[in-house]
Amino acid sequence: MGKGKRNQYWQQHEQAVDKMEKAKAKPLKSDREKVWQRASTDYLIANHFCQDCQKRGYTSPAEFVAHIQPPGESQLKFWNIDNWQALCEPCFQRIVGAAIPKVLEPIPRDAKLYTVK
Ligand SMILES: [Zn+2]
Repeated sequence: MGKGKRNQYWQQHEQAVDKMEKAKAKPLKSDREKVWQRASTDYLIANHFCQDCQKRGYTSPAEFVAHIQPPGESQLKFWNIDNWQALCEPCFQRIVGAAIPKVLEPIPRDAKLYTVK
């Protein structure tokens, strides 16, 4: 095998590995999104009204769950229910807009987290 051919071989190999990794990552991603979907549905069942409208003395049915502090890459901020708020569509658009955070990996039930009040 000449040098050029070998490079080509490795390039193809890397592309194939890349593809495989992406294919593997896909179902995981949708699993995460399913967990988030379920979690936010549960949250909205317990919190019917838009919390931002309530602050201003209005009552609107909530349709979305948003993070109070943008979670960024923090799984804790993402999955901490205390960091969630129920919002109606206009409030969600105003507060979150296009900055919808990506769904992070859920924290497993048996995670050993040191927590404080
Ligand atoms: Zn609202």
